[in-house]
Amino acid sequence: ATPMSIMVGVGRGASEGVLIKDAEVLERMEKVDAVVVDKTGTLTAGKPKLTEFESLEKVSPSGVLRMAAAVEQNSEHPLARSIIAGAQDQGIELPSVEKFDSIPGGGVSGEVEGRKVLIGNNALLEERNVENRDAMQDRVAQLQSQGRTVMLVALDGKMSGLVAVADPIKDPTPEAIRQLHELGLKVIMLTGDNQRTAESVAKELGIDDFTAEVRPQDKQDRVSQLKAEGYVVAMAGDGVNDAPALAAADVGIAMGAGSDVAIESAGVTLVKGDLRGIVRSVRLSRRTMKNIR
Ligand code: ADP
Ligand code: MG
Repeated sequence: ATPMSIMVGVGRGASEGVLIKDAEVLERMEKVDAVVVDKTGTLTAGKPKLTEFESLEKVSPSGVLRMAAAVEQNSEHPLARSIIAGAQDQGIELPSVEKFDSIPGGGVSGEVEGRKVLIGNNALLEERNVENRDAMQDRVAQLQSQGRTVMLVALDGKMSGLVAVADPIKDPTPEAIRQLHELGLKVIMLTGDNQRTAESVAKELGIDDFTAEVRPQDKQDRVSQLKAEGYVVAMAGDGVNDAPALAAADVGIAMGAGSDVAIESAGVTLVKGDLRGIVRSVRLSRRTMKNIR
């Protein structure tokens, strides 16, 4: 390979907001035929807005929101930010949290005013044996089929309420998916979010294949599986939870606004978090490699 052409390619990418780590990454990008994308923060804006907060008897809806938001103060997940912003919009002042713990792809826990708070998905509540965790099942299903991401809130080990957010698809995403298809690439979505929410997003975007309710380890396994099937895989993600999958992919692609861990694990960073950057880098790679031959 001619290092000069590659350097020109890398430089051109940078000027378009596509940061390519080294020559090897640019070379590998040419052969990519499957693109795996995380949903939240990658396909979607990742700036979800709080839409509902509800409680079971004995706790008020705003009480549930207050406890959840208090714990989320220590999380860097986009869902956490939306819950905190939602609480602030309600004029709720947040108490501090102790013994904070984060379960990537599941949720968070901590102690607030001496009470144990757990917030996250159904799998997490099940794993922690939360009492009465199915109490709001029907309501949860209803919200999810409207495309909401629903998080359950347990206080002292008992199901207490829910908070729901809506996360709109980023403006450039539909066009990016269309162009990836035009380049002949298969597009696969992986998300820790639930089946119903995932399905509505996949349908709307014309995604070829998706898996919902995956944990970070599953994302990595799915990438390895595709590689074993013979695909050259690019994986795009933004979160701490995506880092193992980014590292496992032939080319890891991080969203510029994403977590530092994701960016460190990636060969390509999309400065503006615009997925059309994948299209650009594939085109750039194909052009550069053609020039060299
Ligand atoms: P995605 O793959 O869509 O980016 P994640 O793997 O980060 O999603 O999270 C999967 C699910 O775990 C979320 O849909 C949510 O239910 C739960 N979860 C993750 N982080 C948090 C958090 N900080 N607070 C509450 N729930 C969370
Ligand atoms: Mg994400």
